[in-house]
Amino acid sequence: MTSTEKTNYLIIGNSAGGIGAAEAIREIDKARAITIVSDEPYPVYSRPLISEHLADGYPLERMLFRPPDFYENSNIRTLFGEKVVQVNFNEHIVKLESDRTITWQKLLLATGGLPIVPKIEGIELKAVFTFTKLDDARAIDRSLNQYGRRVRAVVIGGGLIGMSVTEALVKRGVQVTIVEMKEQILNTILDEEASALEEKVLTDAGVEIITGHTVSKIDSYLPGEVTGVSLDDSRPIPCEMVIVAIGVQPRIELVSDSEIETNRGIVIDRHMTASNPDVYACGDVAEAYDFAYGKNRLVPIWPNAYAGGRIAGLNMAGVATEYQGGTAMNSMRYFGMNTVSAGMVRPPDDSYEVISSEHDDVYKKVVLKNGVIAGMVFSGDIEKSGIIYNLMKDRVNVDSFKQVLVDDDFGLASLPEEIWRARLAIPASLLASSATSIEQPEEALTGE
Ligand SMILES: Cc1cc2nc3c(=O)[nH]c(=O)nc-3n(C[C@H](O)[C@H](O)[C@H](O)COP(=O)(O)OP(=O)(O)OC[C@H]3O[C@@H](n4cnc5c(N)ncnc54)[C@H](O)[C@@H]3O)c2cc1C
Repeated sequence: MTSTEKTNYLIIGNSAGGIGAAEAIREIDKARAITIVSDEPYPVYSRPLISEHLADGYPLERMLFRPPDFYENSNIRTLFGEKVVQVNFNEHIVKLESDRTITWQKLLLATGGLPIVPKIEGIELKAVFTFTKLDDARAIDRSLNQYGRRVRAVVIGGGLIGMSVTEALVKRGVQVTIVEMKEQILNTILDEEASALEEKVLTDAGVEIITGHTVSKIDSYLPGEVTGVSLDDSRPIPCEMVIVAIGVQPRIELVSDSEIETNRGIVIDRHMTASNPDVYACGDVAEAYDFAYGKNRLVPIWPNAYAGGRIAGLNMAGVATEYQGGTAMNSMRYFGMNTVSAGMVRPPDDSYEVISSEHDDVYKKVVLKNGVIAGMVFSGDIEKSGIIYNLMKDRVNVDSFKQVLVDDDFGLASLPEEIWRARLAIPASLLASSATSIEQPEEALTGE
């Protein structure tokens, strides 16, 4: 027999987006019931830290995004290790895999993404993994521990997830080959020059990188075991383990047969409302506003999921609030190399202007459209990239001083006074201090 439970706010997904929403709801509404359902069995953890878990054995307690008593203190009911399998948007009811049902008044879909897994021969072998959740890191760890010798791994995909798992594997003593279909690694967030610098630090660390090719099958010359992969040109690469990191797709399965409008992700407005006024979406599953592109699109990064979740939560609790927008902002440090990229890094046509500088292992590039920053890449020296990001976020016209943006000695003091006063809102009390202390709040943006 099944029983129906009731909640006011139902949040599917216990990660950046779901937590952002729950916290915002509780700021407004201390009383009504919030329920968070997640098919992962853990309290909210920082997903980017799964590489530290694999590399250095980071325990879950050090990965938690909120203290363990967060849910109890915020009076949030949790259903962890429970999967929602069906949503009836008209009757406001969800069904869980365990057959339980829950009715709700406002629903948030913060279901994130699912790794894309190609249908190639050998994909079902037990030493083939994805790398998007803690249990993936744990499974790879268990597998590595079974070998009494050096393991060779092929990582399919040279994006952010491929880089994260590669660094962790190298730290574990694994010999890694990355196979990337495009001509450059990290090609969706970096341009050619910055990608080449990343490639250099990876190869210096002993990683083999094969670009312009893909894996067409996973070989198994011993029963049930991975013995290598074959590339699309039939080249064999021997290995004992394969990590599939070719991308993540919005997890829209709960809305696919419903009236909820989807594109690549769930379509939402600036209040994070989906095409049903009682349904909201945020994070990796939703197409939210990107200020650098001036339109809604998928921007699957943690801070945007959290910020979008907060806006959804405020609106769910009845406080009409518009999302100001985020953009793809990635700050990374693989093999000791600092890189920050944001917005549009590869301008699509001549209507964009590019200002750049390059020397030694330092590369800086700012992309402008009509005098406003549309994108940026900083590699090697990222110290002042936070200032550039803020100028970009605030849509400041930088045309009259654009050349200084990529100078080595660029800082807040390089900006016209009315800009750093008005746009960056530096408190008057700070103006007497040194330039370094003024810059600190901006630099926080670049921190890992
Ligand atoms: C290895 C790795 C490294 C990363 N590094 C960075 C980084 O350095 N910086 C950065 O900004 N971002 C990074 N990201 C991306 C970042 O983690 C995501 O953008 C962020 O986690 C998205 O949050 P979310 O709340 O939208 O969804 P998710 O974090 O994907 O969480 C969604 C949750 O919903 C659950 N769920 C989905 N469907 C159901 C269902 N039907 N029933 C129950 N539960 C369900 C899922 O199991 C999951 O727990 C990284 C991601 C990975 C995988």
